[in-house]
Amino acid sequence: MTVFSTPEYDGHEHVAFGHDEETGLRAIIAIHNSNLGPGVGGCRMWPYPDDTAALRDALRLSRGMTYKSALAGLPFGGGKSVIIGDARAEKTPALMRAMGRFVESLGGRYVAAEDIGMTVADMDEMATVTEHVTGTSTTSGNPSPYTAYGVMRGIEAAIEHRLAHNDGMAGVRVAIQGLGAVGFDLARRLHEQGAKLHVADINKDAVQRAVDTFGAIPVDTQNIHAAAVDVFAPCALGAVINDKTIGELGAQIVAGSANNQLAEDRHGKALAARGVLYAPDYVINAGGIIEIAHGKSFGGDHDDSKIYAHLDTIHDTLTEIFERAETEGTATNMVADTMAEERFRTPA
Ligand code: NAD
Repeated sequence: MTVFSTPEYDGHEHVAFGHDEETGLRAIIAIHNSNLGPGVGGCRMWPYPDDTAALRDALRLSRGMTYKSALAGLPFGGGKSVIIGDARAEKTPALMRAMGRFVESLGGRYVAAEDIGMTVADMDEMATVTEHVTGTSTTSGNPSPYTAYGVMRGIEAAIEHRLAHNDGMAGVRVAIQGLGAVGFDLARRLHEQGAKLHVADINKDAVQRAVDTFGAIPVDTQNIHAAAVDVFAPCALGAVINDKTIGELGAQIVAGSANNQLAEDRHGKALAARGVLYAPDYVINAGGIIEIAHGKSFGGDHDDSKIYAHLDTIHDTLTEIFERAETEGTATNMVADTMAEERFRTPA
């Protein structure tokens, strides 16, 4: 395995490999860029097929965090960690403490948050041996409502820009793919603002709840992207904007919480060519990291009024991206990347 010639390697500052003999911990911490602050990002536990797959994930995800935090206006760099293993079968408190010691060994250059395979209790266990952990039971809460609020503000920015619709969500038709923690809360907020909802989820109970509670129109999971609406909001899976779905999209706007919505970067250009306005995923779904930034781990008081004021900046950042993309005749995802680079390439 090589690091510097791995395709996902992008000038990362620091890549650390951690092993603990007693617990069998095998983990990687990647810090992409720390010009704006410590590398903050999730710790993921996943049964990677091999070390290379784990390294590639750590490199890719840590880079993504640099861009996300830069555009969210946070004093954070990009970091991510991965533990190689099956969270259901191999996770123990001792393993979590070993991971905590690994995080501690970097002296605060990386701060770990919750990610796939990890729980608040796991973060609490790590916190017994390092203070460089967030997402514990005493530092911050459930990020989903904050993420959902940020997505709603992003949708507002998009409809103002594309549809010249400047009086809130009344009458706006939104198709939500995925009614989980974020999607359902987004549905509630949009419904309260007068939007008309179309919804799909593989979980039939969630769909029924949205139909009963919000008068939502149920749509088959295979066809939700094609619903004839104003906004398609992917809130479930990645890679939903791909060669197949682009030609079938029923909306003029794609704006939702899912990570990695574009199967490949070029699909951003393809959306623009079709006249579809895309709210770059890592900009619109930054509510969770914004909430974390206001928590105790970073000296904050988790004051909702400050968090919501910060979340409102998602609207303004997206508006700037939309306007710049239009002026420059380029795709919104490319403008977002450039704007993030303008911020983090210049040390604070
Ligand atoms: P979740 O697991 O609570 O919800 C996902 C929902 O999608 C579930 O209800 C699931 O049944 C549904 N789903 C799965 N496959 C589907 C399919 N083929 N079609 C339709 N629905 C399907 O997750 P979440 O926390 O709500 O996150 C949703 C997305 O937003 C994820 O991509 C996540 O990475 C991203 N995100 C979440 C947060 C957050 O604060 N939770 C922050 C940033 C990004």
